[in-house]
Amino acid sequence: MPGVDRSYARHFAVRSAAARPAGTSLQSRSPWSRATALPAGLKTNLRVAYAFSGPCLDLEDFEFDAIDSLEADAERAAYGALASLKLVRIRSAGQRTIVRVKGVEIGGDRFVVMAGPCAVESERQVMETAEAVARAGARVLRGGGFKPRTSPYNFQGLGLEGLKLLRKAGDAFGLPVISEAMSDSQVELVAEYADIIQVGTRSMENAALLATLGRCSRPVLLKRGMVASVEELLQAAEVLLANGNPHVILCERGIRTLGKLTRNTCDIVAVPLLHQLTHLPVIVDPSHATGRRSLVPALARAAVAIGAEGLLVEVHPSPKTALSDAAQSLAIPEFRRMMHRLEPYLKLWSEEHALDETAAPAARR
Ligand code: PEP
Ligand code: MN
Repeated sequence: MPGVDRSYARHFAVRSAAARPAGTSLQSRSPWSRATALPAGLKTNLRVAYAFSGPCLDLEDFEFDAIDSLEADAERAAYGALASLKLVRIRSAGQRTIVRVKGVEIGGDRFVVMAGPCAVESERQVMETAEAVARAGARVLRGGGFKPRTSPYNFQGLGLEGLKLLRKAGDAFGLPVISEAMSDSQVELVAEYADIIQVGTRSMENAALLATLGRCSRPVLLKRGMVASVEELLQAAEVLLANGNPHVILCERGIRTLGKLTRNTCDIVAVPLLHQLTHLPVIVDPSHATGRRSLVPALARAAVAIGAEGLLVEVHPSPKTALSDAAQSLAIPEFRRMMHRLEPYLKLWSEEHALDETAAPAARR
């Protein structure tokens, strides 16, 4: 079958897999000895197609060289954009960046939960939240002073006053704090009060902000743009590193897809994909990814299971009255329950992490 259509083979593989009778196993037959040079993904598709189609699809006729070169072209095109990203690209197995903030290591041997209100609203609100999340095991306090709101009529944050209150709450309960800078002109001020500076989804492509943060010594949490590809996220991270800041954490916070039942769609597989492409730590924000508090704990467990290095979670002492992101903020008892239910997953996370370390001892940065 000269010039076989690769997409047809994929399509066929998926259809065949769906039709596979329960309990049957894959067979191995001679064509695979000819297919050893194929990229793993395509080989798997063809193997599945072959195993389930039996006599309907004679793989002896496949032109493996043609498929091989098509696949190689596609891979080159997909990865081509990354070739120029000298700094964020992973160079050797086990090369991992650890971002260190006041004794907390993001990308190290422990999973890190960052939690707190979407926006700082009052001293009482942020103090109460900080105390509760610290007790429940969070190790970084989040809270917005400057809030990037889609509508100008929504609460815009307390600004500097919010940053001061966040700092006070973090210090009171021994938590480093993270807060957002929306523009390059805010960086100096936010850096004065926050230990980690957040780049929000709406700012991922703000070149002036990224360049300024690149020249800043504070670690940066870079959120994926809501319509940004993984490649574009890495390009934005490269801007930070190229400007001199190696302390970068990536954050998958969901992207826009179809439907309105969730605020966004969490591209959960972006986590292991990013781990294959970059040495930077990757965390997941299940609050903005779902927009619904009832879905946050399940996504948090998925994030741990898939190997993220941490979480960014919104918590509020009274979510119903929250001035921003009320629907997705966990009440304090809900956060406690979420943390409790994460425990077995965290144990597995540590075991997996130890296995990775044994397989490829980390070349830490
Ligand atoms: C936030 O963290 O409160 C926030 C505004 O996040 P995002 O930029 O992901 O919407
Ligand atoms: Mn929010």
